[in-house]
Amino acid sequence: MALLELHDLNKHFGGLHVTNSVNLAFEPGEIHCLIGPNGAGKSTLFRLILGEYRPGSGEIHFAGEDITALKPFARIGRGMSVKFQVPGIFKGLAVRQNLEIALQRTHRGAELNHEIDRLLAFLGLEAEQKQTAGNLSHGQKQWLEIGMAISLKPRMLLLDEPTAGMSPEETFQTGQMVQRLNAEGMTVLAVEHDMAFVRQVAQRVTVLHLGQVFAQGTIEQIVADERVAAIYLGQAHHA
Ligand code: ADP
Ligand code: MG
Repeated sequence: MALLELHDLNKHFGGLHVTNSVNLAFEPGEIHCLIGPNGAGKSTLFRLILGEYRPGSGEIHFAGEDITALKPFARIGRGMSVKFQVPGIFKGLAVRQNLEIALQRTHRGAELNHEIDRLLAFLGLEAEQKQTAGNLSHGQKQWLEIGMAISLKPRMLLLDEPTAGMSPEETFQTGQMVQRLNAEGMTVLAVEHDMAFVRQVAQRVTVLHLGQVFAQGTIEQIVADERVAAIYLGQAHHA
């Protein structure tokens, strides 16, 4: 059974049909990348999945339950977590304090400290734990945000352009983090422009175009698809 299913999902902004009869199923344990030209509707689909937007029509099912009417916090409580492009970290606090805030809902005392240490090691931020989060490099801030997003051990992690603005080396390290999370059983859905990242991690790729599912397959199938190449023409930075 799929972990997350979108059934005939529609969303309009005024006269703009931004999500157009989207049917998608995400299998438990997969790393799935969502790609598509600017304005394709990727971020909107994310917000529908997380419950920040309500669909005009259609249903969203998570772990067998219809969650279409649930608010974001209720979806998070059921095992969804998201890292958006906009920063969600506390810039004035130390890196360690940021993780403490994220973890203190579920952990106490020595166990809390142990869990913070484990997360710092996973993120490669041990040496930076006392630094103010606002002083981290761009890539490190993104990793800290991933750390906060995984602090509740979600079943499904949603990432909106996790490697935006990162160097190739940082992008590769982010890919390795995603693969390690996936190896522990986490299902991952990532919106991503960076094709190196998509090649590194994606087990399946969905192409969104004009709010619709345009193509789906392995990364090899997608890059060989001339219809897909055609919709990217004129958007050279997507390469
Ligand atoms: P992507 O993330 O693929 O670039 P978006 O989901 O951000 O695409 O946007 C898809 C389309 O919906 C764009 O034409 C965008 O201008 C429009 N759009 C997105 N959010 C809103 C909104 N809150 N109100 C009106 N139009 C929106
Ligand atoms: Mg977007």
